[in-house]
Amino acid sequence: MLRQWYQKHEKALAISLASLLLSTFLMNLEFNFLESALYDARMRLGPQPETSSEIVLVALDDYSTSKLDEFSPLPLDQHVRFLELIEGYRPKAVGYLVDLARSAQSFPESLQSDWSSRLISSASRLEATGAPFLLGTRFDVNGEVVPPYPLSLLPHAIAMIHKDGNVFGEDKVTRRALVNLYGRNSFHLDLARKLGLSDQLKSLRGQFAEPGFDADYVFFRYFGNTQYYPNQPSKNAYPVYSFIDVLDGKVAAAELAGKIILVGTIARDDSNDFTYTPYSKKQGTNPKLIVHANVLNSIMQDRGLVEAPGWFHFLITTALISFVIWSVFTYTPLYGVINTVTLALGFLLVGQILFMARGLWIREAQPLIGIFLSYYLTVPYRLIQEYKQRWDYQRRNDILLQVEEMKTNFIRLVTHDLKTPVARIQGLAEMVLRKGGKRLEADENENLKHIVESTDELNHFISSILELTKVESNRVTLNLESKDVNQLVEKSVERLRLKAQEKQIEVELELEPLFPIRIDTSLIAKVLNNLIDNALKYSPDGSRVHIQTLDEGEFIRISVSDQGIGLSEEEQAHLFTRFYRAKNDLTTQISGTGLGLYLTKYFVEAHDGRVEVESSIGKGSKFTIWISSNLQPQPGLFTASDTLANNKRSDSL
Ligand code: ADP
Repeated sequence: MLRQWYQKHEKALAISLASLLLSTFLMNLEFNFLESALYDARMRLGPQPETSSEIVLVALDDYSTSKLDEFSPLPLDQHVRFLELIEGYRPKAVGYLVDLARSAQSFPESLQSDWSSRLISSASRLEATGAPFLLGTRFDVNGEVVPPYPLSLLPHAIAMIHKDGNVFGEDKVTRRALVNLYGRNSFHLDLARKLGLSDQLKSLRGQFAEPGFDADYVFFRYFGNTQYYPNQPSKNAYPVYSFIDVLDGKVAAAELAGKIILVGTIARDDSNDFTYTPYSKKQGTNPKLIVHANVLNSIMQDRGLVEAPGWFHFLITTALISFVIWSVFTYTPLYGVINTVTLALGFLLVGQILFMARGLWIREAQPLIGIFLSYYLTVPYRLIQEYKQRWDYQRRNDILLQVEEMKTNFIRLVTHDLKTPVARIQGLAEMVLRKGGKRLEADENENLKHIVESTDELNHFISSILELTKVESNRVTLNLESKDVNQLVEKSVERLRLKAQEKQIEVELELEPLFPIRIDTSLIAKVLNNLIDNALKYSPDGSRVHIQTLDEGEFIRISVSDQGIGLSEEEQAHLFTRFYRAKNDLTTQISGTGLGLYLTKYFVEAHDGRVEVESSIGKGSKFTIWISSNLQPQPGLFTASDTLANNKRSDSL
């Protein structure tokens, strides 16, 4: 039972086992370089979700500092003027991503001045109107870099941009956002919470803890393939205004009313991301401010990316590998390639769709490597197997050919040896019949006649077999001589006249005068004998046989029609096959070898001709042959391959 089951599913089991092994092997390796490239491709390709229309950016750009006649960092008074101005615009929130610690360091006197307290009061007034103010701070080896007192009284949280450094892609691309450090919310999460992100939500979508750190991250979204155009807001990008333009009142209050304003420096940075600037169309050197906006946008809408679980990656890799192995073994090499490539592309497409539509991140490196690795491992294996198989066929074929030859030789020897004793029996019986016929009893006479008839049949059989062995071992050669085919027909009819008389069959001849043509007389005589003999054999007593010859120019046509038992369509299809005899009651009573028509076809084709049969059951049959009237002697006429091809042709008819 178990054995049978195993044999039936052996292939499937082998494929599954190989896939599991390869997949386990791949799962234990990391392909971060490829994985991060595939991640980036997905982030950059296709439409990404729209940017939040609430977020507006105010940039502390070079233009602002030069206009103010200042250098970065700006002194505190400019920030106070700015905040006091936008207070009146009634924004929804203000995220201040300015390094006030550096500002305080550069202008220490400002801490004692009025400016710091004015800044703090402006922030509290904003808070009081329900618009949260939050200062983003740096983080260094000593922890959060909070500006000195009294600025430290401002609400603040760490606003760190994480660059992938020593884990995942080691390429400084910003893919993940810090949401929590040492149990404290990051700037973005804090601001989002203040803006109403539900407190019920314990953790964000896709949030994960970094092992070894007391920190939580989330893979965030880049919205709308963000572009950065200073001073010119564009569709599906966060509007950006210059700090100085706002300060100079060039930006209408309506542009900022009800918005979440993120204020920050537009300094070039060495981090890479998925945003684009008009300066460098390529990835990288982008304003951090836009990255902050994307992180905030992603967290506010809780649209972090969720990574599919490990077991899912294992399953999908195993399934894809199984399919590739199965397809390589099942289809032709071309389809194997097409299937493999289609599978890989299909997988990437599904990955892209799930990424964009569902925010689901399926790791693609292992499955893709699995697909191609399994293909390259399976193809040589299949080639070896096929080569072995072909070699086996070849050997078997050689052996079969040898056996065939031995068989033919054996039959030839046996039949040849039979010929002599049969001829002797026939001769003796005929002699006794002739000489002592009158002295014998009537039934003894009859028996002697039977002996002569039987030996005749036996002789015919032996001749046919010998003829067959000649044909099969390719020993037939054409001895061409000029001959009038009509003469051969008449001779055949003469030979069979006795048989016709016995059955009272009338043989009609309709012979057109013909020029002599080059033929092998003995072979064509055999053909005619066989066709006329068959017509007589398979026809009822008292019927008619009609023989016609016609000169068609290129061919001589000879047809033999009878009013005999006829042949069904199916029988006609097999007629020219070796040893074929129609299976009806009449045929079984009539002796025959089933070789006559096979040899007929062969001999006629040797004369560049063909045979056709028309017949219907119970009405009669008409056999027609065409033989070339212009046959040239060809030394290589009967090559081995010709003979094989001929045999095949007649066997398949
Ligand atoms: P044989 O006559 O020795 O059996 P042939 O190769 O000459 O072998 O013919 C093959 C078979 O075709 C015969 O057994 C017979 O069933 C059928 N056949 C041949 N000629 C005729 C015919 N004129 N009418 C009906 N059946 C025929």
